[in-house]
Amino acid sequence: MKIGVVGAPVDLGQQRRGVDMGPSAMRIARLQERLESLGHSVKDFGNISAADMATAKVGDRTARYLNDVVRQCGLIARRVADCGSQGLFPLVLGGDQSVSIGTLAGLSSGGTSRGIVWLDAHGDFNTPKTTPSGNIHGMALAAILGYGPPELVRLGKRSPMASERNTVLVGVRDLDADERKAVSRSRVTVFTMKEIDQLGMQTVMKRAIGVAGDGVDQVHVSFDVDVVDPREAPGTGTPVRGGLTYREAHLAMETLSDSRRVTSAEFVEVNPILDTANHTAELAVEMMQSLLGKRIISKRA
Ligand code: MG
Repeated sequence: MKIGVVGAPVDLGQQRRGVDMGPSAMRIARLQERLESLGHSVKDFGNISAADMATAKVGDRTARYLNDVVRQCGLIARRVADCGSQGLFPLVLGGDQSVSIGTLAGLSSGGTSRGIVWLDAHGDFNTPKTTPSGNIHGMALAAILGYGPPELVRLGKRSPMASERNTVLVGVRDLDADERKAVSRSRVTVFTMKEIDQLGMQTVMKRAIGVAGDGVDQVHVSFDVDVVDPREAPGTGTPVRGGLTYREAHLAMETLSDSRRVTSAEFVEVNPILDTANHTAELAVEMMQSLLGKRIISKRA
């Protein structure tokens, strides 16, 4: 496979410093070398230019830094669309989860239909009307599915940017009160940690792929590292205990890989300032390897 790497050193979707260094941390964790060791070719497009939190304007506090987030997402969208037109598998490195709006905007420019498997401790389903924080990273999935500020919702060539009935949330364990109602009203399928405990990760993931891939051309994987338990992934801004074990997270990626349905991916919310010796970036790159075909016995035939 030919992979196009897009770095998005973005931190304005939330308020903790350091997550803009995520792309560097994942590259330092030998991202390119480890993907090439699986037989892939890797073209790294470098980073998009992102605003600096020290000088950016907050603006409306129900959607903080909206203007800069829109501009940054536009740059991400263009690079992702370039990957698509060059036949590359887009792999986006965050940055906070606001980058996902750019990723999906870029993917939606290709005229194809898609589902999403969104692995996250949170729902990212707030809008400026429901958000307690004003942080756009907590509005990313809602914006992709057509809810929220029009500047974000209409960033792609089509809105919504993905099919709601083909969208699956996996690993959720922390929803805001009004966000919970919005998720319940939506057609999004949710597998909370409770379902993972009860059914096991492989069953959950097979069902998730079935829903996400039903009748669509493409399946996108969005991996927020906070889906993993903070003991394994401490370097992230909004950790919630009770998350995926290291092996559950790998199994999720391996099951997605086995399905051969995944056509794009992003890894977000790695914050090296909060990390221990780059452990979380290392974990993110290991997850990419499993998603992109790494096998314990042998590489995929
Ligand atoms: Mg998230």
